[in-house]
Amino acid sequence: FILNSDGMLSNVTGLSIVELPDHSHGWSATPLEFKVGEGIIGRAAAARDMQYCANCFEDDRFSKVNGQAYMPGSIVCAPVLTLHNVLIGVLNVSHPQPNFFTDWHLRLLDVYTNILGQLITNRRLFQQMEMQIALRTAELERLVDETRQLKDHYVNLSMHDQLTGLHNRRYFYDQVELALAQHRRYSYPFCVLVMDIDHFKSINDKYGHVFGDQVLISVAKTLKEQVRNTDILVRFGGEEFVIIFTNTSCDNGRSFAERIRKEIKKLSWNAFDEDVHITLSIGLYCLNPNQSDVNRMLDIDQIIHFADTALYEAKDKGRDRIEVYGS
Ligand code: GH3
Ligand code: MG
Ligand code: MG
Repeated sequence: FILNSDGMLSNVTGLSIVELPDHSHGWSATPLEFKVGEGIIGRAAAARDMQYCANCFEDDRFSKVNGQAYMPGSIVCAPVLTLHNVLIGVLNVSHPQPNFFTDWHLRLLDVYTNILGQLITNRRLFQQMEMQIALRTAELERLVDETRQLKDHYVNLSMHDQLTGLHNRRYFYDQVELALAQHRRYSYPFCVLVMDIDHFKSINDKYGHVFGDQVLISVAKTLKEQVRNTDILVRFGGEEFVIIFTNTSCDNGRSFAERIRKEIKKLSWNAFDEDVHITLSIGLYCLNPNQSDVNRMLDIDQIIHFADTALYEAKDKGRDRIEVYGS
């Protein structure tokens, strides 16, 4: 009989032997229950002391419950306690014959209930620990998940330019290695465009920095419309943008650059009742399969440097134009 949360002692199996209408014995799912202090079981619980009823037929402590089919001759009720003497329940051992149990039986039961109390105490502590571990594990998993989301958020932030929403220079260096590796391995051609808005300083000076920002945002949007998902487009810094057209020949790269130059030139804004237009200078460097022995030796900084050299040539030659490095 275990002491339940209602303060009742109910039998562990949840079943009781009952007398059936035909006077045979059967099992009932309604378990026998005693209050602490009630009957011999309740008395053992209340006194925390073993009760031995040598003859149940004569002993007042043994009270037969309604419907109880099995009437023992002798019964021992031993309280089961935790290490700190908290009542767990009562262990009943009975026999149909009166005066069945000897002192030796009683001592043995005493030892056994002590061990049982310790086992149940340990088991309950273990269950509590398991519950705490499960709670902590769930909390840890939640924290790990939150940390991962935060990390993703900051990685994403660190790879983007806040003004235009384009990827930034860090993203460029992160991604460009793949394009280079594919070029080296499969001789895929690709083109690097370095683009710089012409006389952008005077736009800022004339119309203000906030207006300049709006221009940069529109330019970024237009550039985005000109590239494929597989290309790499970044705001490299200030009013300078870089595109890598992956798997693209020099001829195609040149015509894409030309289309971009024209699209940017078509943009217009209104400031102080004036129509504002801008132009773009573009430096192009191509990595061709037939030059792959040379290209194999290059790293991305050298490639950017070549495209930059072409860009300065475009500026020198009057801006609003494209120059291809080495041609
Ligand atoms: P060039 O044709 O030789 O390229 O002339 P430029 O005036 O464009 O060149 P310069 O490098 O002298 O000026 C670049 C200007 O871009 C100066 C800087 O204030 C402006 N700029 C850079 N970043 C931003 C930005 O985020 N917002 C705004 N509004 N202006 C920026
Ligand atoms: Mg510049
Ligand atoms: Mg410029």
